[in-house]
Amino acid sequence: MKGYLIALDAGTTSVRAMLFDVEEGKFVFSMQQEVGQSFPQSGWVEQDAEEIYFKSAYVVSRCVASVGADRILGMGIANQRETVVIWDRETGEPLAPAIVWQCRRTGEYCAKIPPAMQKKIREKTGLPVDAYFSASKIRWLLDEVPAARDSMRRGRLCAGTVDSYLIYKFTEGKRFVTDYTNASRTMLFDLKTLDWDDELLAYFGIARSVLPQALPCDGRMGEANFNGVRFPITGVAGDQQAALFGQACLTEGDGKITYGTGLFQLFNTGKRCVRSESGLITTIGYALGGEVVYALEGSAFNAGSGVQWLRDELGFLSSSAESETLACSVPDTGGVFFVPAFTGLGAPHWSSDARGLLCGITRGTTKAHIVRAVLESIAYSARELGDCMQKDSGICLREIKCDGGASANNFLMQFQADVLGISVNRPVEREGTALGAALLCGCALGLISEAEVPRRRKAERIFVPQGEGERYEKLYRGYLKAVARTLYKP
Ligand code: ADP
Repeated sequence: MKGYLIALDAGTTSVRAMLFDVEEGKFVFSMQQEVGQSFPQSGWVEQDAEEIYFKSAYVVSRCVASVGADRILGMGIANQRETVVIWDRETGEPLAPAIVWQCRRTGEYCAKIPPAMQKKIREKTGLPVDAYFSASKIRWLLDEVPAARDSMRRGRLCAGTVDSYLIYKFTEGKRFVTDYTNASRTMLFDLKTLDWDDELLAYFGIARSVLPQALPCDGRMGEANFNGVRFPITGVAGDQQAALFGQACLTEGDGKITYGTGLFQLFNTGKRCVRSESGLITTIGYALGGEVVYALEGSAFNAGSGVQWLRDELGFLSSSAESETLACSVPDTGGVFFVPAFTGLGAPHWSSDARGLLCGITRGTTKAHIVRAVLESIAYSARELGDCMQKDSGICLREIKCDGGASANNFLMQFQADVLGISVNRPVEREGTALGAALLCGCALGLISEAEVPRRRKAERIFVPQGEGERYEKLYRGYLKAVARTLYKP
């Protein structure tokens, strides 16, 4: 009888469960539900943790029902990272809305962390101090939610990322765990000892008992119980790390870029935990079979969101896909540059104050030039991150694997190959995150070997640089000048 794995991709805007046919090596069923977000104050982003759980449970149940309970061999989870849920250990009830990774409410708190402590945090966790990561969000909840403080005092508080909360709920409160990749996004986890760091816990005033046990991605996370249907949960990773695995970036020097709302670039550095001098993040790529693989990561908060802006705010496009036709209707941008710093700039600049910029406009500038400039800006920001990665690691990027919604854009992928000067490899299966969760789960259960993973990823199209390197270098330098202008403070 055929066996299936469930890959649960608990993303920021939706949760999706996909059913993976182990023998065929492909997804055969998928169910998705949108998840709401609320914005109670400027810069704040919250979600209802129970909604995430109920919708996740629903999509997983539909996967189970689609093939029958006895055919489900296990479930892997990939999730939005850094988002914090707090709940009561006895009742499982959330004590406050989840604070989402995008939320900037702790920006001021983070800015006041003394430089010596900032340095220590960076050394131990590989992360720059920023409101993006979980630690300051947990601190905020302890300061502002009396029930959280009270619960911590009584030893009943659980604070975890979305994976941790879902596993707790799926195992009926029996397991309070997370995986190393999610833990490595909290600003509390030592990348070398692979444990919560006592000095950082003391600094943020967070009791160790509040945090889950951190396990490798292939750790036995627990047994899920869906109305009596039981199966193991294993193969857990943050969404970007899952995509790294799903894209078969298993060797030092392999890199992937996910082109979604934002742009997430991860680069496998093997056993080397490379400390970035350029503003990138050092993170855990995955931990499997007793080995830990490290990665360098650069995230740009805005990428595809620029295309959404053209479509929804400026009315330049009727669909995101139309950007390709318009961009190709002109030979270049006519000197226009765009920097999508709508909510500041992420890596490598980490500037909350920067704002978007469109420059070089002349009387001859058309809609097509602007659309093209927006797409080109995505490729330039990936080039900027790629340069930092090569500088920090001393490793040459050989090829980039791509996924995410905007990777469907052929113009963008070709331009990316030209600007990076290396080929961009687009897979048949664009759901790299879900594929990563399924493959991690399969490896953990001994159904798939790690050596088989590259064979499970099939290329759909490879975009090769078309020459004219100097022209692209010049354009890229123009973009960097535009970036410098967004950082300018009068
Ligand atoms: P997320 O997971 O961040 O919600 P997705 O991977 O679903 O994002 O990608 C959606 C983003 O990709 C949107 O910002 C959308 O504007 C952009 N996008 C989708 N298709 C295209 C396309 N053909 N060309 C350019 N951008 C696109």
